[in-house]
Amino acid sequence: MTLSSLALAKTAENTAIEVRNPFDGSHVGSVPCLTVADVPALLATAREGVRRCAALPRHRRAAILEEAARRVEQDAAAFAALIVAEAGKTLRQAQKEVKRCINTLKLSAEEARRNAGEVVPFDAYEGSESRQGWFSREPLGLIVAITPYNDPLNLVAHKLGPAIAGGNGVLLKPSELAPLSACRLVDCLREAGLPSEVVTLATGGADLGKALTSAREVRMISFTGGFVTGEHIARTAGLKKLAMDLGGNAPVLVLDDCELEATVESCVSGAFWAAGQNCIGTQRILVQASIYAEFRERFLARTRALVVGDPSRPDSDMGPMITEQAARATEQVVAEALAEGATLLCGQRREGALYHPTVLEGVDHRSRLWRQEVFAPVVVLESFETLEDAVALANEPEYSLHAGIFTRDLRRALWAARRIEAGGVMINDSSDYRFDAMPFGGFKYGSLGREGVRFAYEDMTQPKVVCINELS
Ligand code: NAD
Repeated sequence: MTLSSLALAKTAENTAIEVRNPFDGSHVGSVPCLTVADVPALLATAREGVRRCAALPRHRRAAILEEAARRVEQDAAAFAALIVAEAGKTLRQAQKEVKRCINTLKLSAEEARRNAGEVVPFDAYEGSESRQGWFSREPLGLIVAITPYNDPLNLVAHKLGPAIAGGNGVLLKPSELAPLSACRLVDCLREAGLPSEVVTLATGGADLGKALTSAREVRMISFTGGFVTGEHIARTAGLKKLAMDLGGNAPVLVLDDCELEATVESCVSGAFWAAGQNCIGTQRILVQASIYAEFRERFLARTRALVVGDPSRPDSDMGPMITEQAARATEQVVAEALAEGATLLCGQRREGALYHPTVLEGVDHRSRLWRQEVFAPVVVLESFETLEDAVALANEPEYSLHAGIFTRDLRRALWAARRIEAGGVMINDSSDYRFDAMPFGGFKYGSLGREGVRFAYEDMTQPKVVCINELS
């Protein structure tokens, strides 16, 4: 698969970012490492992109997004292989991400056709009876989209799809650790007829991201990544719209009347999908005391049976973390929790970037492992007596994204769902369920905006009112 979009990037005086396979360190590809010096040229191209996208009628934006979806589908096997190679996801996980990306693009096409504005009921206000009018959804202008490494294709589609549907120009800075799927997606959009300036690729590191986000002419920053980066961006952004999709520390509640076999299966997947590098990955499993021992035994047995290793093998359940450094940092967080009194039930074994599925219990609630996002294949088990206790435990961290609850009793599930502080509560699913059309985002600290195509589209457009006063 060639990446023609990169030919447009300025390469002469730039060094390259070499993308390496996290599992075996082999060379996967390279992209130009643009720097702060490239920002004026990037902005000039993006300015033209803003003009060109706003000039595309809705049917053209929709047709381009649909055609891009078709091209991704046609190239699905190559996309999946690229995700495996650059991000270390297993083949099955990568295939699922490609399918979701196709859906995200199709949903964006629908939004372009459908969501043009609303009639304003002026006559609902006394004295305004002589007026009629509407609001339309207008492009914001230039959007800077910054994405992380863990879903290197679909999270990019979640920004480009709604932005294009809304008629905006985009400066896209994908993760420097896994930028190739994003570049290939941009190729598909261009091959589908998108004027090349509409999405300007800005491959580079944090310095480039910082310079782009501080540019005054940028109307919105759509960021997905970690809290520390989000806080940096918020400090330097100035007066522009911010959408922040940050981390989680998801709890799952397992009640005594749950269907145990299915619950264990779902919790194992929730904890170790994408080697735990998943913002809605299950980090804390809270189990009712009367079934704790049985749940723990079954959960550990199922965890130990996971096939860990080469992610390109069709039978692999879990691949490496993104870098050896990330795996070493995880080892450190777990070592800290153990020093603070936790008990290790399995794992805490590392080979390069491969960090084996790790389960702990008795974790001190002041430890990093309990309070912060670990973003690694590590999960904590904890027992509770009453549903009130479980909800209080679930809500302890200062931020959250998703939660899950397993029970056959809908009344208890709904009682808990109302009280759990999360952007989404999954009943009889782990925290790790997402449908790309639903509103998706955080609760509590750092929660700014929602993704999910319709919601991102609405964030990426601005209402403009036209009001007609009947001549009297
Ligand atoms: P990260 O914050 O390290 O990097 C994300 C992006 O920000 C990269 O492209 C990086 O180059 C860029 N960046 C770094 N410093 C910057 C700065 N000062 N200014 C502008 N851009 C800058 O995140 P990561 O390690 O790639 O991804 C993991 C994090 O992403 C986790 O915390 C995870 O929970 C979060 N995440 C959230 C969601 C969600 O939808 N809520 C989805 C996936 C991942």
